[in-house]
Amino acid sequence: MKKILTIVCTILLLVACKEVPKKDKEVVSKERKKPEVKLYTFSGGTVLVNNLELFSQDTTYHGQSKEFADAFYVIQHPKGNLIWDAGLPEGLVGLSQPFTSPDGNFTVSRKDSVTHQLSSIGLAPKDFKYIALSHTHFDHSGHANVFKESTWLVQEEEFNFITSEESKKTDNYKAIKDLNKVKKLHGDFDVFGDGSVVIKSMPGHTPGHQTLFVDLAEHGPVLLSGDLYHLYENRRHKRVPSFNFDVDQTLASMEAFEAFAKEKNAKVYIQHQKEDFNKMPKAPEYLK
Ligand SMILES: [Zn+2]
Repeated sequence: MKKILTIVCTILLLVACKEVPKKDKEVVSKERKKPEVKLYTFSGGTVLVNNLELFSQDTTYHGQSKEFADAFYVIQHPKGNLIWDAGLPEGLVGLSQPFTSPDGNFTVSRKDSVTHQLSSIGLAPKDFKYIALSHTHFDHSGHANVFKESTWLVQEEEFNFITSEESKKTDNYKAIKDLNKVKKLHGDFDVFGDGSVVIKSMPGHTPGHQTLFVDLAEHGPVLLSGDLYHLYENRRHKRVPSFNFDVDQTLASMEAFEAFAKEKNAKVYIQHQKEDFNKMPKAPEYLK
């Protein structure tokens, strides 16, 4: 009898323990309720890297070539839309054959314009509150000027770099020159103020390079790499491309990125890695 009583008491105690006090329950449900954020992935073209050796400080990739994806993304949040990166230049659309850069390093192509691509999800450029680029290289800023009514979220360092007298002579400058509504950032930026979409300052590839954290309610947290890494191998071995702005800064950003990914338990998607691009549902499908 004593034994039975003990068992009954134990069960009662366990049930009692499971009951969360009402006040705590409210806190828990408030914390768990994430805003409805959707992540759409689009193709901004293809980059065939004819000289992969550029993507390391040493000769590791000597003689190799590789096809890169060139993705851009739409983040739909109840408070507005953000476009992350802007693909390859739209001048490539409709060319009869891919374009090879004069130095022979890259062969690039793009099949469709952003306005036409966005129409597949019922949006137009004017529907975007924000545009943010991981950085201002040509394969990330292609259709940026289309978003001149949106606010450009850019690190001040990147803004100063791309609007310098020297940069003003380049096509990279021309790709962003119509973006006149500028919000200059100084480090990380919580885009909608609820922690669900956060720009992470990760300098090194360029002076104001950044990555994007998106906390999706069903899929879970996601980190879009920008060009912090171009390849799985570069992430694994912490390899820095030969053309990066600052090697030490890049390595420090890699460390900060990995620590943040671990803290948030975020899935990392390397934007140029074709396998990661292929994993994503393509618009009009989306992750949420
Ligand atoms: Zn790139």
